[in-house]
Amino acid sequence: MHKICDLHLHSKYSGGASKNIDIFKIAFNCEKKEIDIVATGDCIHPIWLNELKNELLEYSDGIFYSPKVPNVNFVLQTEIEAIWNYKSNTKKVHFILFFPNFEKLEDSVEYLSKFGNLRKDGRAKLYNSPEKIIFGLKSIDNDIEIIPAHIFTPYFGIFGDTLQFNNLREALGDATKYINAVETGLSADPLMIRGISDLDNISIISNSDSHSTNYHRLGREATILKLNNLNYRNLIDSIRKNRIIKTYEFKPSAGKYYYDGHREDRHLHGEDYFCSPKLNVINCPYCGKKLTKGVLSRVYELRDQKKPTSLNFQYIVPLLHLITVILGGTEYSKKNLSIYQDLTTNNGGEFNIWEGKSNFNGIPEELIDAICKIRRGKFWFIPGHDAIYGKLQFDT
Ligand SMILES: [Zn+2]
Ligand SMILES: [Zn+2]
Repeated sequence: MHKICDLHLHSKYSGGASKNIDIFKIAFNCEKKEIDIVATGDCIHPIWLNELKNELLEYSDGIFYSPKVPNVNFVLQTEIEAIWNYKSNTKKVHFILFFPNFEKLEDSVEYLSKFGNLRKDGRAKLYNSPEKIIFGLKSIDNDIEIIPAHIFTPYFGIFGDTLQFNNLREALGDATKYINAVETGLSADPLMIRGISDLDNISIISNSDSHSTNYHRLGREATILKLNNLNYRNLIDSIRKNRIIKTYEFKPSAGKYYYDGHREDRHLHGEDYFCSPKLNVINCPYCGKKLTKGVLSRVYELRDQKKPTSLNFQYIVPLLHLITVILGGTEYSKKNLSIYQDLTTNNGGEFNIWEGKSNFNGIPEELIDAICKIRRGKFWFIPGHDAIYGKLQFDT
């Protein structure tokens, strides 16, 4: 069976996350969007963990569901920030973790709480090297999975510009052997990853890293896994053994850290600046300070082999965002949400539309035209940079 998975989320207890997130809303909106398996987010946060224990029922080993929305399954997941000293520099890297059941999760909570305050933020800051953290978790259970998150993002991606690690081993030492997959992040795609030989035998997953349950955030990137059975062991195995059918991807230029640049609010007169890394501009022409280097720049530095010509992934644009670009308003306006509901209800979800289902009764012509252009790849973005998303444009 094929399952559409979004395996990196946050709860209301993570910094910058919506305070309205609850388990029912995650499940309800995932069902609308056509996401089969969703991550709980923040499962080592003590209060969220309690909510998970109280509200989720077990479907099978390590797979859970919320009783009012039985068609959507949950897997226990969190993100952590490992903070440690490396050659007299402080390094901070994000990882996503998956746990096989509540028992092993609670053992892990006890272990991880030695390195930081798990109550403070859903994405816990842990003051220990990732190598030690990974070995510690693996000694609790070999089925705990650790995956470097959004690997190229400048501040917290393991290959990001501020980290300057050139391969996994530099960052993880002997724990590298436990890394089976990496997450692309919004500003990167599998083509960029496959240009780097260090990641040759590593699976690629894509997730939303959503900080809300809004339709344009949940599942904005996703992974289709081939499962033989719906249980935790099989899910992790399909990632480890690369039984990945495909990923749904943001165009990297849509992400917040694609090009090098400085955003408007850094400058007195609101000048926005971005440029291709090929121009090799180091300092901002407006303020003279070092530009925030984007993902593309880092990929150029690390790339050491020809990228393959084809890979199993598909570019998409969150449908609700597309509606607002074409019809105006915001992702929160009633009119746009109602069109979104009509489209997803009539087509059995959002991903079906990207797969070609075309029940467009009552939908404005210009929106139908835009959906078709996205399907045919006739779109591009004014590149995202310095924490600003790219801006969608269409080929004429
Ligand atoms: Zn992160
Ligand atoms: Zn500047």
